[in-house]
Amino acid sequence: MAALIDNVTISRSNVSAKTIRNNLIPQKIGIFIWRFLKGRIAVKTELVKRGIDVDTVLCPLCDKATETLDHSFLSCDFTKAVWAGIHQWWQVALTPLTNLEDILRGVRYGSIPLHLTRVWQVITWTTCYLIWKNRNYKVFNGDSWSTSKTICEIQVKAFEWIRNRSKKFHKDWLQWLLNPTDLGAPDTNNLDPG
Ligand SMILES: [Zn+2]
Repeated sequence: MAALIDNVTISRSNVSAKTIRNNLIPQKIGIFIWRFLKGRIAVKTELVKRGIDVDTVLCPLCDKATETLDHSFLSCDFTKAVWAGIHQWWQVALTPLTNLEDILRGVRYGSIPLHLTRVWQVITWTTCYLIWKNRNYKVFNGDSWSTSKTICEIQVKAFEWIRNRSKKFHKDWLQWLLNPTDLGAPDTNNLDPG
């Protein structure tokens, strides 16, 4: 079923050739974010618009609201708790995420230092990707991660992806958990490979 839905959305938009780039994260995440920015994630309301039968349009995670993109990635209780945890981890004030698209595109956000914009973008992309992965896990396996497990997965994946792609990233796991924004002097903080 997951593959079927992917095929529907991909064949309609030919998105496989298009992406948005951040060299610190795998390209498949960029493709996912590009699809999100184009409104091409298969939430229930998007499936209905395309004439696909669904048993219910309710969000599979909370079962309380219609599953739209905004609900899944911003206003579901689960999603809000994950974003709050991520903001707390980065010690950034949580503002209403009405400008999520700007944030995903890498527009400077809140008190995030300019030199950490691309690292923060990795965090926001990973957060959206794993929110959706968790949603699909609930739909297809009937089970889902807790908020804390999801936040931990975001921390793990972002750490692995950045470490594997930047030779300039020297944080160990504990430093990453305790103080993710302290990457040393700003002028050495361009983590892009090469
Ligand atoms: Zn929900």
